[in-house]
Amino acid sequence: MHANLQKACDALALPKDHKATAIGNQWQPGRGDSLSVESPIDGQLLAKFKMANPPQVEAVVDAASAAFLEWRSVPAPVRGEFVRQFGQKLREFKEPLATLVSWEAGKITQEALGEVQEMIDVCDFAVGLSRQLYGKTIASERPGHRLTEQWHPLGPVGVISAFNFPVAVWAWNAAIAWACGDPVVWKPSEKTPLAAIACHTIATQVLAENPDIPAAISSLLIGGADVGHALASSPRLPLISATGSVPMGRAVAQTVASRLGRSLLELGGNNGMIVAPSADLDLAIRSITFSAVGTCGQRCTSMRRAIVHESLADTLRDQLLGVYKKLPIGDPTVEGTLIGPLIDERAFEAMETALAEARGQGGVVHGGGRETEGVPQGGFYVRPAIVEIDSEAAIVQQETFAPILYFMRYQSLEDAVSIHNSVPQGLSSAIITNDVREAELFCSPVGSDCGIANVNIGTSGAEIGGAFGGEKETGGGRESGSDSWKLYMRRATNTINYSEDLPLAQGIRFDI
Ligand code: NAD
Repeated sequence: MHANLQKACDALALPKDHKATAIGNQWQPGRGDSLSVESPIDGQLLAKFKMANPPQVEAVVDAASAAFLEWRSVPAPVRGEFVRQFGQKLREFKEPLATLVSWEAGKITQEALGEVQEMIDVCDFAVGLSRQLYGKTIASERPGHRLTEQWHPLGPVGVISAFNFPVAVWAWNAAIAWACGDPVVWKPSEKTPLAAIACHTIATQVLAENPDIPAAISSLLIGGADVGHALASSPRLPLISATGSVPMGRAVAQTVASRLGRSLLELGGNNGMIVAPSADLDLAIRSITFSAVGTCGQRCTSMRRAIVHESLADTLRDQLLGVYKKLPIGDPTVEGTLIGPLIDERAFEAMETALAEARGQGGVVHGGGRETEGVPQGGFYVRPAIVEIDSEAAIVQQETFAPILYFMRYQSLEDAVSIHNSVPQGLSSAIITNDVREAELFCSPVGSDCGIANVNIGTSGAEIGGAFGGEKETGGGRESGSDSWKLYMRRATNTINYSEDLPLAQGIRFDI
């Protein structure tokens, strides 16, 4: 094992014999299929152990359900104090956790550190939230009555997460769920189990320092889609928060809906940016580059479509190609690298297939292909691609999880918005313009149809303070900031009669 990874694993007190399930600090070996964890950096085997199988889900849900009965009665600000301590612990472990994220998910150091920072930020947010779980007081139509609403803990939350944000997505859910009084059962991606084991281990350290808190407010199940399905099927998990591909979300949504549960879906994106005639080109190039090639194009918010006004399309394309040629590709743990590897060979093949299809649909491909020089052997490193293509080409409709940017031209803003909104996904979007009318129109009801609509920044790199999520095939879920917390709670409407009469609503008379 590479020395800096070994150091990080030691600092995180990562157990050598990895086990697949944990209820608090009670670890159990998995009884499912074998899992080999390989680093996308160089294909090195990081760990091998057995995953959990669906029958093992029951014991974890039992424990989470029992923990809920206690946790829901702990005052919310006291729950917030636990989250505060967890956030402090994350600050202590920020660097080793980021190193592990780099080795397991292939993120460059800066982005891995940023991901852990997101965990810390959402903890801070949740601590404040724990004193702000406000309900409304509503004017009653009846004399001597008070109408009010309260928010109560919902129950254990099942969290299914994707490989590309192996730690932050869980923290977005866990910090808010804990503040809201809900235990969390986490099934991370089977591609990034070690980062999950590290996060859970950090949580158990805080739990050990707080023996009054039921340890099963945090549990972990390392397993495949079958374990995810078992979670989605469990009627004792009133909320399933699932992050991943559209097909996964479709399956989870149907399973959860069939038992009339609640799902929070954070699925694929196909994020576009309109570059308007008045755009600051320097700002456009910087924001496009970060959004399109950051995390090697493997963010749900990665920019996949540039919709560029014809008056500046040639200039912008040429300048972007110049920048793309100089982008440092290689070992993500080396300072200065901006593009690390794809997660695995399948991701590389998907990129190759998409580029071949784009060519077949009339696209002109610049860049692309595997990079083998100056990069660690055994990883799948690629040159990012820009594809000039017609906005009606079929390939543009699809999310390929790789650094491919489709470059299209437009004549009027109306056309640009229509091209922009013509894809099935609706996560993130942006416009680069210095024209306030265009900016406002893009953010208006007739503009972008996405959950995130930005002006003069790229499509990726959201802050935790806003509600995060998207429309259409992206699934409609919102997590992290703003009032996303309401999904983790149940609302009770209370009508309190403090009079001696019993007037009925709507003036109904019912004399007995
Ligand atoms: P994936 O769908 O292959 O896997 C995601 C998770 O779902 C994994 O834990 C997996 O084991 C589980 N899973 C798969 N099939 C399942 C099923 N039928 N039932 C229950 N669980 C199942 O996704 P991935 O390749 O890990 O991640 C990439 C995808 O995730 C991209 O489409 C990306 O856009 C999306 N994503 C979205 C967001 C967002 O916030 N919108 C964030 C990150 C990633």
